[in-house]
Amino acid sequence: MIARVTLEIALRKEFDYLVPVELEGVVEVGSRVQVPFGPRSVLGCVTGMAERSDYPSLKSIIKVIGAQTLVTPKVLKLARWIGEYYCCAPEIALKSVLPEAVRQEKAGWRERLHVRVVPRSGEMPKLSKRQGEIWNILEERREMPLAELIELAETTSGAVRRLEDKGLITITGEISERDPYSNEQILPSYPLPLNAAQAAAMVEIKKAMDAGMREGAPTGAKEGDSRVFLLHGVTGSGKTEVYLQALAHALERGRGGIVLVPEISLTPQTVERFKARFSQGPLQTLVAVLHSHLSTGERHDEWHKIRQGRARIVIGARSAIFAPVDPLGLVIVDEEHENSYKQEESPRYHARDVAIVRGRMEGATVVLGSATPSMESFHNARKGKYSLLDLPERADDKKMPVVRIVDMRQTVRRGNSIPIFSPQLHEAIARRLDAGEQTILFLNRRGYSSSLQCPLCGYVAGCPNCSISLTYHRQEAKLCCHICGHTQTVPKVCPGEKCGNPEIRFAGLGTQKVEETLGKLFPHARIKRMDSDALKRKHDFREILGNFRTGKLDVLLGTQMIAKGLHFPNVTLVGIIHADMALHQPDFRAGERTFQLLTQVAGRAGRGDVEGEVIVQAFTPFHPSIQFARRHDFVGFYEQELEFRQELRYPPAGRIALLTLKGRNEEKVAFSAAHLKKELERALVAFKDLIIAGPAPAPLLKAESFYRHQIMLRTARMSQLSRELAQVQAAIHFPEDVTLAVDIDPVEMS
Ligand code: ADP
Ligand code: ZN
Repeated sequence: MIARVTLEIALRKEFDYLVPVELEGVVEVGSRVQVPFGPRSVLGCVTGMAERSDYPSLKSIIKVIGAQTLVTPKVLKLARWIGEYYCCAPEIALKSVLPEAVRQEKAGWRERLHVRVVPRSGEMPKLSKRQGEIWNILEERREMPLAELIELAETTSGAVRRLEDKGLITITGEISERDPYSNEQILPSYPLPLNAAQAAAMVEIKKAMDAGMREGAPTGAKEGDSRVFLLHGVTGSGKTEVYLQALAHALERGRGGIVLVPEISLTPQTVERFKARFSQGPLQTLVAVLHSHLSTGERHDEWHKIRQGRARIVIGARSAIFAPVDPLGLVIVDEEHENSYKQEESPRYHARDVAIVRGRMEGATVVLGSATPSMESFHNARKGKYSLLDLPERADDKKMPVVRIVDMRQTVRRGNSIPIFSPQLHEAIARRLDAGEQTILFLNRRGYSSSLQCPLCGYVAGCPNCSISLTYHRQEAKLCCHICGHTQTVPKVCPGEKCGNPEIRFAGLGTQKVEETLGKLFPHARIKRMDSDALKRKHDFREILGNFRTGKLDVLLGTQMIAKGLHFPNVTLVGIIHADMALHQPDFRAGERTFQLLTQVAGRAGRGDVEGEVIVQAFTPFHPSIQFARRHDFVGFYEQELEFRQELRYPPAGRIALLTLKGRNEEKVAFSAAHLKKELERALVAFKDLIIAGPAPAPLLKAESFYRHQIMLRTARMSQLSRELAQVQAAIHFPEDVTLAVDIDPVEMS
C-alpha cells in the first residue's frame, strides 16, 4: 500500500511512501505521520492512498502520530478546494485547516495529579493534627486536584503523600482539560417565543436543514445553493435568537453547528449567549470556543473536544470554519459583511465563502446574517442563488434611532478653524450628561493628529519605509507609522530643505485629540478612549466595556472597535465625528464601507427604553452612502451602488484577482509586473470575458520598505481563472528579490 503524504516543510507536491506491514490498516487519509526525508525525518499528513506508485525505491513511513486522524476526509477535501481556488500550495492550505496548537502537539493534554479517597474497610488510622486538617477537607470533597488541595489546606504535597502511605487516598495522574471559561458563572437561557418575522425565517431554515439531512451532500455540481440563507435583519432584530433556535434544531437531529463571528465581536458577552443556551438545560452539549486569545493549551483541548464529538457547537473567528464538527448540520456566519473573514496572508481565503463550499460538500445549511449585507451576498440573494430572509424591525419594539446629519462646511464658515464638535453634537452630549444617559463617540483614526505639516514649504512628515504620512501620538510624544510601526521624534522646526520654519503644524484628527478636547469641554464627564493604543493589557477591553455597562463611565470614545455588536441599553446618543473620512479612499468599496460603518455605529443607539439619537458630522452630507444610512435604507443603497459596480464590472458584477509584485527595488518590481502582464496576455488569450488592468503602482506604493505594483484581473469565471493562474505562477520566473502574491476575491485593494 502506498500513502501520498503532504509534508509540513513547504514543498508544492505530495510524496509517495510505503506503508509498512505493521501499519497497514492504521495509516489512512488524514493520519499524521513521521517520514524520512533526505537525512532527516519530517512530519506530514496523509492526503491520499494508492495501490502503486510511479517512483521506484520508496521509503517507508516511520510512525503514525496520535490515535485519531486529525483531518477528516471531509476537511481534507475542503483544504484541496482552498488550495485550488485561492492559488496556493496544498501544504499551506492544509496548515490553515489545523491549528498550530494541534499540529505541533507540543502542548498535548495536561496531566494533573488527582487525589481520591479510597473506600475504607478497616479502622481509621491515627492522624497528626496537620494530616487531620487535610483529611477533613477530603472527607467532604472525596476527590480533587492535588494542587487545589494543597492551596486549600495550606499544606505541601509531602504532607498529602503521608495520607497515601496510610492507605486513605490514591494520587494519580489524570488528564485535566483547560477550559478558558471555567471561571464564568453562566445562567441558563431558554428559547424566546419568536415574533412573526423570526418565526417565518425559522420555518425556512428548519425545512432546508431537514432536506439537507435527508439528501446529504448534493451529488451533481449545481450552481444554485438552495441551502444558503441570507438573514438580513436590522441591528437588534433578534438574529441571535434565530441562530440559537436553528442550532437547537440541528442538535435535536443529531448534528453539530459552527458559528462564525468576527474576532472583534467574539466578546465574553457573545460567547455567553451560546453557552447559556446549550451548556445547561435539556440540550446539554459542550460549546467549544476557538479564537486567537486562547493559550496554546486551551486551543489544543478545545479542538480535541470537537474532534472527539463531545463539543458539538463551535463558536469562533475565521479559522473555526475548519473545526472538525461531524456530522455538520448548520453553519452560521454572523456579520457576514465583515472584512476580517478574509485572511490577508496565504491561503487568502474568505471564511464566508469557505462556509458556503463546506456546507455544500457536507449537506449542511448555511445562514449568513447581517444588518448590512455585503454587496456580493445581497446580489446572490437577489439572483435567487441564496434565499433571503428579512427581519425588518427591532425584536423588542424599540424604534430605530433618529439620524441627524450635520453639515460641517456650515460650521467652518461660521468660525475660522474646523471645530471637532459642531454646536449640535456639543449640545446633545451636554444633555445626556445632565440626564445621566450615556454617549458613544466614534472616529476611525487613532493617534492625535493624522499628519505634521509645514504651512510655509508644504513639507509633510512621511514614513521612510512606507508611502504614507506619520501620525502624531501625543502620549508617547512620537510620530508613528500605522503601516509598519516606525516611530520617530517630533522635529522642533521644519526639516524641509532650507526651511527651518518653527511654526510647524499638526493637521487632521485622531481619537487622542478628541479625548483631550472632550475633557476640556466637559471637565466633569467620565470619559474613556478605546482604540488599539489604549488597550495595552489583555483584560483592558473587558474592563472598559464592563465599566461602561455598569454606568461607571459617561462617554465611550473609540475607533471601529466600538462600532460593532455591542449592546448598551443606557446609550441614547451616538456621535460620528467625521463620517466621510473613509469615503475618499482609492478603493471601489469605499462607499459600501462607509454605509456599513455608519449603519453599524448608529445601531448602538437606543437599545434601551429611551429612544436613541445619532448625530453624523460630515463634509459631504449629500453623499449617497451617508444619505441612505440616514434613512436606514439598505436596499436603496444596494441598488444605486450596483449600477456603478456593473458599469465597471467590479464585484458583485464580476470577480477580481489582484496580483501584487513586491520588492525593495522599484525598477525590478515594475519590470517584473510588465513581464507578468505579457505572460498573462499570452496564457489567457482564450479567456473571453477577461479584463486585465495595470500594471500600476499600488495605492500604497511602498509598505515596510517594499515597493508594490499591481495587476487587476476581472472575470465572471473565477474558478477557471484560478486554475490558469496557478499554471502561470508555476512557470514564470522573477528576479530573486521580487515576489508575487495572488489574491482571489480581495477585500483590501491597497
Ligand atoms: P441582533 O443580533 O439582530 O442585533 P439580538 O439578537 O441581539 O439582535 O436581539 C436584540 C434584543 O432583542 C435582545 O435583547 C434579545 O434578547 C431581544 N429579542 C430577540 N428576539 C426576541 C423575541 N422573540 N422576543 C423578545 N425579545 C427578543
Ligand atoms: Zn511605515
